[in-house]
Amino acid sequence: MTFTIIAESAGDSLHPTTAQLVGAASSLGNGSTVICPGGIGAAEAATIAGVEKVISVVGDCFSTFDGGAWASAINSVCNGVILASASPIGREVAARIAAKRGIPIVQDATELADGITITRPIYSGKAVETSTVAGDCVITLRPNAFEAAEEGASAPVNIVDQSADVTIAVKEAIAKASERLDVAEADIIISGGRGIGSIENFSHLEEVADIIGAAVGASRAVVDEWGMPHSMQVGQTGKTVTPSLYIAVGISGAIQHIAGMRSSKFILAINKDPDAPIFGVADYGIVANWEEAIPALKIALAAL
Ligand SMILES: Cc1cc2nc3c(=O)[nH]c(=O)nc-3n(C[C@H](O)[C@H](O)[C@H](O)COP(=O)(O)OP(=O)(O)OC[C@H]3O[C@@H](n4cnc5c(N)ncnc54)[C@H](O)[C@@H]3O)c2cc1C
Repeated sequence: MTFTIIAESAGDSLHPTTAQLVGAASSLGNGSTVICPGGIGAAEAATIAGVEKVISVVGDCFSTFDGGAWASAINSVCNGVILASASPIGREVAARIAAKRGIPIVQDATELADGITITRPIYSGKAVETSTVAGDCVITLRPNAFEAAEEGASAPVNIVDQSADVTIAVKEAIAKASERLDVAEADIIISGGRGIGSIENFSHLEEVADIIGAAVGASRAVVDEWGMPHSMQVGQTGKTVTPSLYIAVGISGAIQHIAGMRSSKFILAINKDPDAPIFGVADYGIVANWEEAIPALKIALAAL
């Protein structure tokens, strides 16, 4: 079986999920070809154990993200079973490539087995779906759900220039300026809920976020009632996040919130109610008022 992996990047280098995509292919006994959009991280990708070839796809279209242009440029070098990260960019490019090739797509897989048998949570995590795909397909894998491959290869890097074939390029993107990380892309998230008391009190979470390089998220209660931006909302009707660490502060842990963050690698909950449902999914819990816990956390983190 041939595996093609669409690399995920973060700034000018590879995102750690790329090694997880390679690890997933290796766990099925397959080597893989890694495609690096815009050439980002190609040299790094070539060193991941299990990578047999790297294709650095370059062209004007990679200067800014445009799903249609990226999919056109990447599609021509894809082959076999295509794996991408279940990130906002990965999902969009994967869906467009599946449509172009007329092959099935399964989004947000959390397990792969021979066959290919694909497991993924559905209905906000209330049920688990297992499907089997015979032949070529596109699968996006949930970040942090798969073991990353280690370094240990020295694969050749081929460069494919798509400038002549893909002429769409976004010249300017006007986005609302925000100095904060997006929760969908962050490796650490600290989220606040109604228990924080007021929108002004989010500044305490922002101070912790600044120390540890985290994004700040929110429950729907806070978004609906206090007017926090919807882009910060985690959950069934917000964003699904899979950071390495999710810190939930003053969040009760309603099923709709948990649906968006339960796949985080580690969950730390801070809540004054020892019976709050959030403790049911948390790896670590602090039963306390946030007014006591957050200053102590800040001092401890600043001392690291
Ligand atoms: C169709 C649908 C979709 C939904 N989608 C989402 C979604 O995407 N995301 C989402 O979050 N919700 C969603 N909800 C809403 C969800 O059901 C809950 O109402 C919401 O998550 C509750 O937010 P909360 O935990 O901030 O508030 P609460 O449930 O009010 O919890 C506040 C918590 O703060 C604790 N607390 C209070 N004071 C302190 C203190 N000083 N220190 C520490 N802890 C304190 C309390 O013990 C409590 O556990 C959805 C609901 C529906 C019906």
